[in-house]
Amino acid sequence: MAKPRSTARRILGESGLIALAADRALLKRYYADQSLVCTVGCGGRLERVRVQRAGVEGGKALFECQSCSLRYELVVPKATRTERRKVKEALDDGREPECPRHGAGQRLGRIGRDLVCSLCGVAYGRV
Ligand SMILES: [Zn+2]
Ligand SMILES: [Zn+2]
Repeated sequence: MAKPRSTARRILGESGLIALAADRALLKRYYADQSLVCTVGCGGRLERVRVQRAGVEGGKALFECQSCSLRYELVVPKATRTERRKVKEALDDGREPECPRHGAGQRLGRIGRDLVCSLCGVAYGRV
């Protein structure tokens, strides 16, 4: 009996999870806090399990499909120079810095000297 073949492209990230292609459209959905859909076609929604820091300044979000339980990871790109400037300006003005991607209301937390968004895992500045 032939094994059913999945047509989905499974790219394994370094932690053995399925890597979500961090293209513009997908990242945009992620930053807008819209739900991501399981890429193997079960149509389930991905639930964010954890966000961690990755590399020097980048982040990584881990997800689990609510219907098939497959696990995914999304590498969140590190801060751009413009984003860092925006955060620095807020600090200089005495404002509480917010995530340049998640927008107003999403404050950056302090981890050591780094200002990190808890949803991106990305460091956007230093204090
Ligand atoms: Zn699924
Ligand atoms: Zn963020």
